[in-house]
Formats: sequence, C-alpha cells, structure tokens
Amino acid sequence: MSPAGGTPGQSPGERWPSAASIVVGVMGDPVTHSLSPLLHNSAFAALGLDWISVGFPVVPAEVREAVEGIRALGLAGMSVTMPHKAAVADLVDERTELAATLGAVNCIVRRGNRLIGENTDGAGFLNSLARGAAFTPDGRRCLVVGAGGAARAVIQALGAAGAAEVVVCNRTAARAEVAATLAAPVGRVGEPAEAPVMDLVVDATPVGMGDDAGGPPMVSPETLHAGQLAVDLVYHPLVTPWLRAASLAGATVVGGLGMLVHQAALQVELWTGRAAPVGAMWAAASARVAQDH
Ligand code: NAP
Repeated sequence: MSPAGGTPGQSPGERWPSAASIVVGVMGDPVTHSLSPLLHNSAFAALGLDWISVGFPVVPAEVREAVEGIRALGLAGMSVTMPHKAAVADLVDERTELAATLGAVNCIVRRGNRLIGENTDGAGFLNSLARGAAFTPDGRRCLVVGAGGAARAVIQALGAAGAAEVVVCNRTAARAEVAATLAAPVGRVGEPAEAPVMDLVVDATPVGMGDDAGGPPMVSPETLHAGQLAVDLVYHPLVTPWLRAASLAGATVVGGLGMLVHQAALQVELWTGRAAPVGAMWAAASARVAQDH
C-alpha cells in the first residue's frame, strides 16, 4: 500500500480511491447510520492521504470472522461500534490497559500482523470538554447519569483525569455500582438530587434522542445553574431538550457531537500517525447532523 501520491494536476477525486488506497472502516450492527466513515474520510481528505473508510455491517454471530478479515484483507484498522465493543475486546491479539479495564474496544489498529485493541471514547470525551468548554476534570465534582458503554468510558476517564469525585446514577442501581468502581477511589453511587452541587453533570443515556428512548431525564435541568457544565452524549439532535433547558437555567452546555468527533480524531491519529484535522471533521459531522434534522 502506498501513501498519498498521484500525478500532478489530477485531483484526489480522480485518482482515489484506487487499488493502492489504504482501507479502514467501522463495523457495527446496524452500521449504515454511522458517522464514522464521514469523520474518517473528511480527515483523510484534509490530510491529503489516499485512505478510505467504509461501513462494514457485521452481525454478532460473525464478529470473529470479521476481525480475522481485517488481517486477511490488509486493512489498516477498524472502528468498532455497537454492539461489538465488548466482543472485540476478547478477539484482538493485544488490548491496551485502558481497553482491558473497560472490557471494550472501539478501535483496532493493525501493526504488522497483530491487531491491537484500543478505546478512544473516554479521551475523546475529555478532549470535547477541553475544546468545547475549556473544562478539565482535575479536582472537580462530577456526576454521570448512566452505566452503559458510553458512561463507563466517561466515568473511567474522569477518575483517571483527577476528578475529586465521580458520582454515578443509573436507572438500574446494580449497574451503577459496577460502573462507579471504574473511577476508584473517587467513584461512588449517588442520587440525581446531588446535581446542583456538582461542577460537571453528564447525561450518558439515550433519553435525549426523543420519544422512543422514553421517560424524563433523571437530573431535572431546572436544578442546574451558572458555573456548572452540562453535557449530553446524544448528538442526534445536536442540542437535546435537556441540554437546552440546562442552558436556560444558566449552565454551560456541550453536546455529544464533540465526543464523537474527538474519539474519531484519536482513531485517525492511531492509524495514520498524523495529527487529526479536528476542525474539518467537526464541520463535516455538524453539517451532516444538521441536514438530517
Ligand atoms: P447502553 O450501553 O445501552 O447504556 C444505556 C444507558 O442508558 C444505561 O445506563 C441505561 O440504564 C440508561 N437508559 C436507557 N434508557 C433510559 C431511560 N429511559 N431512562 C433512564 N436511563 C436510561 O448505551 P451507550 O452505548 O452507553 O449509549 C448511551 C447514549 O450515549 C446513547 O444515546 C448514545 O447515542 C450516546 N453515545 C454517544 C457517544 C458520542 O460519541 N457522543 C458515544 C457513545 C454513545 P439501565 O442500565 O437501567 O438499562
């Protein structure tokens, strides 16, 4: 496989993709809605790289074959989305310490013939707070609603980044107990009513996506106020009703698109070794989400 090249005078669109293009992708079930190829491809275009990212629909029964296919087909890597993050963590040749801790891989990097499993969700979340609100968790009190895959990455990242406290609230209490241990020793289970004394409040549930998610948000946005940062990991819509209400209550708000962009940016960096063009990725993703609504 060759790096970017081509004949002077030809546009990338005329010569790429080609038989020499380096291929990555995203595997999931379903996958056709995924913004990952758009994010990756906008980065490759901005970097002038002859790389291409596509979606691979993979049913759970065929995850093992799909992972083996990365090696067989010579792909440079693979982004992994729902519902395969946990299964892939058991199928790669090596996991980073973080991926092992989370038991979830969202990015496979092929190094020679070895497949390395990494997880960029938590770092992507932290980068989105830094860029979107100049927020760093060091010494801050944080509350996370949810205990699923996204919440677990966030809880671990906040704890590792020096948060003073990571309080976890979840509809199913037993899952909150397990998730809170990821931020040990500062993680604990708590109540949504604690939100007003927190510096950061994160909704890591699908409630903001709308009707089918069901139920009111666990943290009433009216209880939030100026000086707090409220984050909803949902990015469809870009601004959820909970986030809008939190903003009206005076809180600074950050939507989920930032995490999506930054976790993909880190994947691009792992694969290519180049600094990701976050601005180009952000522009492509926000235009697409706005178009979809
Ligand atoms: P998940 O593993 O299925 O976990 C869902 C979590 O939400 C669970 O804790 C669940 O509670 C809770 N929940 C679901 N419906 C609820 C309701 N009606 N009321 C209260 N709690 C509810 O999902 P996930 O992968 O963590 O994703 C969660 C959300 O984050 C999704 O909307 C997803 O789109 C978003 N997300 C965003 C990014 C990003 O980059 N911005 C990345 C990943 C995910 P129980 O334990 O009680 O079931």
